[in-house]
Amino acid sequence: MMHFAREAVELLVQAATAWYFEGDRHGLRDREWMALRFLGRANRFSRTPSALAGFIGATRATASQIVKTLEEKSYLVRKPSREDKRSVTLCITAQGEKCLGQHDPINHVLNAVAALDTEECTKLRDSLRDILNNLDPTHHRLNARTCRDCMFLAERSPVTDTGKAPAAVEYKCRLYRVPISHEETELLCTSFECATARPKIDEHIDRARFAGQD
Ligand code: SF4
Repeated sequence: MMHFAREAVELLVQAATAWYFEGDRHGLRDREWMALRFLGRANRFSRTPSALAGFIGATRATASQIVKTLEEKSYLVRKPSREDKRSVTLCITAQGEKCLGQHDPINHVLNAVAALDTEECTKLRDSLRDILNNLDPTHHRLNARTCRDCMFLAERSPVTDTGKAPAAVEYKCRLYRVPISHEETELLCTSFECATARPKIDEHIDRARFAGQD
């Protein structure tokens, strides 16, 4: 068993080389790609300079420099935050989205995983999630995950005028005390806290996701 585990970890490390590289690819260094990728997937609470610094494991000064570089290339704009007037939200531009879609160095890994069938892909995701959940947090940075992995996500089923709960399941974040749409449950959040297994919410989120696929 240990032999297979070692082999699997070696393969994972090889796949991860797409994330870290020397020099630049298409004009961006690996940390700049990491920042752009994160901001393209982050939820409304995590598109901030401090959340970005935490995610890429950099100081605020380094993160500001990265934001400046991405702004100069027109991949990013700063907008006043709707949540907190004193803060700014970092928003990816259409050009930034296009750059990620066409040139992100991890795209070839993404495409290879997407080529698996749905069951294999779901199994891979669940296995990787279990591995992360079982790791001692002092040995790695668990810095952004989706709502589905978070202890603050709860289901909410408001009663309608007819006195019946709606067919579609709705969610809320118990940390920020706001409703969370299904689309938002799939975005990355730096405030998440790892939850123990919640098969019911997982099942609802997956069912909605598969229903939305072609
Ligand atoms: S449920 Fe968790 S992951 Fe989702 S927005 Fe709230 S704190 Fe973030």
